[in-house]
Amino acid sequence: MENKIERKGQVIFSGYKYGEGIKKALKLSPQDILFELRESKLRGRGGAGFPTSTKWMLTAATLDPEKYLICNADEGEPGTFKDRVLLTEYFNLVFDGMVIGGYTIKAKYGILYLRGEYKYMVPDIEAHLEKMRKDNLLGKSILGKEDFNFDIEIRLGTGAYICGEETALIESLEGSRGEARNRPPFPVNRGYMGKPSSVNNVETFANIPFIVMKGGKWYSKLGTEKSTGTKLFSVSGDCEKPDVYELPWGTKVSELLELVGAKNTKAVQVGGASGQCIPKSQFDRMLAYEDLSTGGSIKIFNESRNMLHILKNFMEFFVEESCGQCVPCRVGNVKLLEGTEMLLKGEFTFEYINKLKELGRTMKIASKCGLGQSSPNPFLSILENFKDEVFNQGMEE
Ligand code: SF4
Repeated sequence: MENKIERKGQVIFSGYKYGEGIKKALKLSPQDILFELRESKLRGRGGAGFPTSTKWMLTAATLDPEKYLICNADEGEPGTFKDRVLLTEYFNLVFDGMVIGGYTIKAKYGILYLRGEYKYMVPDIEAHLEKMRKDNLLGKSILGKEDFNFDIEIRLGTGAYICGEETALIESLEGSRGEARNRPPFPVNRGYMGKPSSVNNVETFANIPFIVMKGGKWYSKLGTEKSTGTKLFSVSGDCEKPDVYELPWGTKVSELLELVGAKNTKAVQVGGASGQCIPKSQFDRMLAYEDLSTGGSIKIFNESRNMLHILKNFMEFFVEESCGQCVPCRVGNVKLLEGTEMLLKGEFTFEYINKLKELGRTMKIASKCGLGQSSPNPFLSILENFKDEVFNQGMEE
C-alpha cells in the first residue's frame, strides 16, 4: 500500500540516519536523557498527552529489575492512519526510539503491540529488527555497552478498539480478554506480568531520537508553551488532499482546512470518534492540548453531510466497541444511540433529550476507562454545536 505524506515538518519527517539517535543516547546517562525529555516537554501522542519524561522517570525509579517497554501500535481510532505510515516507512525512528527508551528506563524487553489489521507489516518489521540485531543495535551489549541488553518482539492484537487503552492492551498481551483494569496500580508500577511497564504510542517513540540528538530545549521551542513539537495529523473526509501532515502544535483548524483544500466545510471532527465536532464559528481554534486535543484524527464534513447520520455512525461504533464491563458505558452508549435515532425520526421530546445530555455528562465521570469517558463527546458536541440542524431535521423529513 502506498503512503501519502502531504506535508513534512521540522521533526519526524525532517530526515534521519538509522542508528544515529542510539549512538548519541549511549554516550549519555539515562538521567541525562530524562533531563532532555523533561526539557522537551514531550507529551504522549496517543491522545491523553501525559508527559513522557514523567512516565519514563516513574518506570526507571522502580526497584524491580524486570521492566517492560511497550509500543502501543493498536491504531484503531476511526480516521487515524499516521502510525501506519510510521511503521511502514519510518520504523527506523520508532525502533531507535524504543531502544533509547529501553536504555533510559533500564528495560531488557520491548514489545510492539501491533493492530491485527496491520499483520501484513510483520515480515518487513521482522526484517528490520533482524538487521538491527546484526548491526548490534538490538540484542546483547548494544554498541559495546556491556550492561545494556535489549530486544523487541512483535505481538498482534485482534481488532478490539478498547485495546488501545493501555491497561486493556496489557491484559491482551497477557492472553486475557482486552478489558481495562482498575487504576491504581498504574502500569509504571504494575504492568505487563505484574512488572513495571511503560506504554507509549508509536509517534511518541518517533520523536525520541530527535530530542536526544538536538536537545530538549530545541524541541520545546516548536509548537506552543503547553504543546511542544510537531504533530502528525491523519486528515480524511471532504477535502482535496486527505493525507498525513506534520504540523506544529498550535496550528489553527482554519489553516489546516486551507492546506488540505477543504471547501464548504460545515464541521470538523477533531480527535476521532471520541473527539469533538466543531462548527464553522470555531475554526479559529487551535490544535493543541490546551484547546483542541487530538491523537491525530481530523475528519472533515462539508455542507452536504447530515450531522445526525454522522452522529449515528459514531454511536453505533461505541455500542459495538464498549467492552461491557461497566454500566455507564455499556448502557449509556445504547441510550445515546436510541436518542440519536429518535432525533432522526423527529420522535423526541426536549425533556428526554436533556436527560440524555445529563446521562452523557454522567458517563464522562462514572465510566471506568477512557472509552466510556469520551464516547458521549460526539453526542454532546453535535447537539450543542448543530442545534438548528439536529432538532429541526427529523420534523422536516
Ligand atoms: Fe469497558 Fe466502556 Fe467501562 Fe471502558 S468504560 S471498562 S470500555 S464498559
